[in-house]
Amino acid sequence: MTDAPATTLKPSLIAMDHDQLAEALQSIGVPDAQLNMRAKQLWHWLYIRGAKSFEPMLNISKALREQLAANFRIGYPEIVDAQVSKDGTRKWLVRFPATEKTGPVEVETVYIPESERGTLCVSSQVGCSLTCTFCHTGTQTMVRNLTAAEILGQMMLARHEMGDFQGQEFDPSGVIAPLAGRRVSNVVMMGMGEPLFNFENVKQALLIALDESGLNFSRRRITLSTSGVVPEIYRTGDEIRVMLAISLHATRDELRDVLVPINRKYPLEKLIEACHDYPEKSPSRRITFEYVMLKGVNDSLVDAAELVDLLDGIPAKINLIPFNPWPGSEYECSSRKVIERFSDYLEEAGLPAPIRTPRGRDILAACGQLKSESKKTVVKLK
Ligand code: SAH
Ligand code: SF4
Repeated sequence: MTDAPATTLKPSLIAMDHDQLAEALQSIGVPDAQLNMRAKQLWHWLYIRGAKSFEPMLNISKALREQLAANFRIGYPEIVDAQVSKDGTRKWLVRFPATEKTGPVEVETVYIPESERGTLCVSSQVGCSLTCTFCHTGTQTMVRNLTAAEILGQMMLARHEMGDFQGQEFDPSGVIAPLAGRRVSNVVMMGMGEPLFNFENVKQALLIALDESGLNFSRRRITLSTSGVVPEIYRTGDEIRVMLAISLHATRDELRDVLVPINRKYPLEKLIEACHDYPEKSPSRRITFEYVMLKGVNDSLVDAAELVDLLDGIPAKINLIPFNPWPGSEYECSSRKVIERFSDYLEEAGLPAPIRTPRGRDILAACGQLKSESKKTVVKLK
């Protein structure tokens, strides 16, 4: 199935909303009077039971199941490689079938277990069109946006791999999957790609992940990270309202233009303005700013002081990320002492500034280390 030409690929039911499911059912001749009920049944099988095929859907007649299977698929990603770090972090290399424009593509999805939560780091694009100089994904050509089904599919796959679909209990009133019992409790859109360059698909996937009658993720437990696509930050606040993380990394345009080149289009002033407007819409009123610690580049106390000024008036947390090296990277990570000094300065100024512990470095699963071989294998079909 994976290598099937796009023309023979059946549409996936994953990431269809209720109306789209009803339309899909209508297209195969289900009577109008049954559409709502059948769409609800499918929704239940897909998002509560985690069905990967139509056979187990026993409250749907055999004839209809066969018809569904003949016309649609339940498009879970294929796992090409699975690695487990010595710290328990898992990384899956997943493959999606060919589309009209590209051959099969691969991205990485990472699961980070912690004592209080388990966080899934989801990719939104194959490669990235941006070229942040410290990021491995930035060295990879942008191949294509992932579809909503492919984004949501990563979450569904991880729930299966971690046993969340089996483990959940739900009562007859429809309350599903108590958060405490979930292994995948949090989602961060921090994998490969810039999620706000793929806004519609990311939105569709996240709105389904948030739906209370299905996967029922909490708004406070989904974070979207962006390099700073200002117009879509406003849209995120209006249309998705999940937690926001901004990849800041520099306090002056001059330096940010180099580290995060999208800054030339949306400079700091505009970015900070958008952040001032966001918190009232965000579930916890706090924005996370990511700041990668690069030796001798952005790690002085002058930088720290500028950061305090820049974020004045924004309810903020700063995640200090020790730079994770990758083959061929030209930066070095600041020393532990320098990172701690930077963190202490911010904390004294009233800004929470935890130092992120790198996870899964040994399997190249840490922030900024993700990269797939897709560009080498993609066959242009046009
Ligand atoms: N494109 C989005 C989301 C993916 S990157 C964005 O840029 O926000 C997730 C986070 O990892 C970003 O904050 C990014 O700046 C950071 N990052 C990238 N390369 C890194 C590296 N080598 N070491 C540490 N963090 C890195
Ligand atoms: Fe793309 Fe984010 Fe990497 Fe920049 S840091 S190249 S935006 S994935």
